[in-house]
Amino acid sequence: KVEVIYMNPNLQQVSSVYFFVMLITLGLAILLIRYTVTLRRYLKEFTRVSKKVSNKEFHTRFNTYVKGELGELSKNFNYMIQIMDSTIEEVEYKHLQLTSIVKSVSHGILAIDIKGKILLINDIAKEMLKCDIETNLEGINFKFVVGDKKILETFQKYVGSTQNEVIELNLKDNLVYRIKIDPVYLQDSKHAIIGSIINIEDITELVKLENMRKDFVANVSHELKTPLTSITGFVETLKINDDIDKNTRNHFLDIIEKESNRLKGLIEDILLLSSIENGQDLSYEKVKLFDVFKEVCEITEYIASSKNITISYNFEDEDVCIYGFRDNIKQIFLNLIDNGIKYTPKDGHIEVVQHYDENRQNIILEFKDNGIGIPKESLNRIFERFYRVDKARSRDIGGTGLGLAITKHMVKSLGGNITVESILGIGSDFIVTIPVDIK
Ligand code: ADP
Repeated sequence: KVEVIYMNPNLQQVSSVYFFVMLITLGLAILLIRYTVTLRRYLKEFTRVSKKVSNKEFHTRFNTYVKGELGELSKNFNYMIQIMDSTIEEVEYKHLQLTSIVKSVSHGILAIDIKGKILLINDIAKEMLKCDIETNLEGINFKFVVGDKKILETFQKYVGSTQNEVIELNLKDNLVYRIKIDPVYLQDSKHAIIGSIINIEDITELVKLENMRKDFVANVSHELKTPLTSITGFVETLKINDDIDKNTRNHFLDIIEKESNRLKGLIEDILLLSSIENGQDLSYEKVKLFDVFKEVCEITEYIASSKNITISYNFEDEDVCIYGFRDNIKQIFLNLIDNGIKYTPKDGHIEVVQHYDENRQNIILEFKDNGIGIPKESLNRIFERFYRVDKARSRDIGGTGLGLAITKHMVKSLGGNITVESILGIGSDFIVTIPVDIK
């Protein structure tokens, strides 16, 4: 039996609308779910990439493929990372270049901002400011870094100044620093100062040399003036006094002769010293030390025997040779043996000994005497120009005070070294060490 259900046509219309709406809603719900899933995946990827970028991992890229605006955003984001990567690489390279340049400068260099923060400092500056080289000082205020009071005061006074300042500071341990402080202007502005650049130079040696030069000039003038005054004085006396008896006249002439010889000796020594300092043009040759010693013995024999001083020797190797300027090597022997004779009383004894050091790397020459000796406090000064333990005595025996300075220079030019051991009243031992393989 077929039952025919009759449906109201209005009701039929309403239900088809419902169905249609439900279908659309379902479709929208599916779309929304899909979109939410894609968005979540996208956001997850976005979080991952941004985390890596903030960890400076600039090689990271967005991998999720999405269409539309999100796809555009990820493309732009990837491009942005790429630009950041190359910009940072460029900045890092420039920083590396700058630090390498600053590191290679032979002075201490510091860049300080207007508030006193260190922007840049090289190892030499750290050393000069007595800081630990390993510590990173960039970003720290210089107040907490500079320990020396004088340097700190200078920095505080001039950092940020618009003027270029040059200050010389005498510090502890006889150190002399020249500090140059220049303002750093903001690129094109002539007024906006953003900090200071500080250049520290250790000029201790330079000042020492300059002082030595001044002392030398003063000493030379003084040394030349004394005999000259004496000579002109006696010449004047002889000129205005015709009636001076023969004996007095001869005595005056003797003094003039002695002082003239002293002047001659002094000038010869000064010329010799300056020629060694300027590196005179002598040829290198193989020199047999024993032969030089014998030659010098002959030259000094007369004066030694006049004081009844004997000269003996003990050469471990009579054939030992060195490469050098023959005249200089002879001068070393002459100065040291001559001093031995000068500063040893009558009937004394001089001995010249040659041997090698333990490893046979160096030739040792010793010039020993049993003379007056040298006081302890003068031992490290006798190689200085014009230094004499007893000025009057040295002058009296024709000394110029330059002999040991010349000797030291000559030994140094052979790559060697000279030292002295001495006991006052007992005698002295001058020890010359010269490398064996000097060519
Ligand atoms: P000088 O021309 O006065 O001898 P030197 O430079 O040769 O100058 O020596 C410097 C000083 O060192 C001398 O004045 C002397 O006081 C001291 N001196 C050098 N050699 C000896 C020595 N063998 N014994 C004692 N004193 C010495």
